[in-house]
Amino acid sequence: MSLTADDIAKRLASVEADIARCSERSGRESASVNLLCVSKTQPAELIEVALQYGQRLFGENRVQEAERKWPALRQKFPGVELHLIGPLQSNKAREAVALFDVIETVDRPRIAEALAQEIQRAGKHPRLFVEVNTGKEPQKAGILPEDADAFIARCRSEFGLTIDGLMCIPPHEGQASPHFALLASIAKRNGVAHLSMGMTADYPLAIQLGATYVRLGTAIFGDRLT
Ligand SMILES: *Cc1c(COP(=O)(O)O)cnc(C)c1O
Repeated sequence: MSLTADDIAKRLASVEADIARCSERSGRESASVNLLCVSKTQPAELIEVALQYGQRLFGENRVQEAERKWPALRQKFPGVELHLIGPLQSNKAREAVALFDVIETVDRPRIAEALAQEIQRAGKHPRLFVEVNTGKEPQKAGILPEDADAFIARCRSEFGLTIDGLMCIPPHEGQASPHFALLASIAKRNGVAHLSMGMTADYPLAIQLGATYVRLGTAIFGDRLT
């Protein structure tokens, strides 16, 4: 059952208040924690409700779905910042650079190289985050934690990319905190400023451990139908 416009506005207000509370409790400025509203699978009508409310940061996990929904929404609502949070194929680098303001899922040399070429060609510079597979799950995207330092260095030196964030999706089972702490430590030793971590189930913990972007879908739009 999908939520009404009123429900979504209330949920956004309540999530914002909760993020502010969690930040203060952790001794952090609430402005240092950004709410990324995950709009994957949601129809444009519901996304418009969030945009009307004033929300401007959104995450999508598929390039093609985002291409269908966002050009029209951007025209209507200036100031949108769109993040790619799903896996990227190197043959989609052109579309991704054209469409997204932040690509959070840089996770292998082939993608880094394709992005570097496209950034050069198009003269458009989306911000780039490296995704780390903190749980070393075989089915999951992301560079392995032990390879992260070398990969970040290579993105910077060989491909000339600016990496200013790390992203992780901890395993479904078990505690998320060791994964958040691991991501924070990799960021710290590599001079990376932003941490995209924490979803509906665990964002308070992620804020405590340094998240600067929390990615929330269910908390805002309710259960996804697909
Ligand atoms: C779907 C998704 C989210 C949002 O998850 P919720 O549990 O609905 O908040 C966050 N990050 C990524 C990468 C996702 O694919």
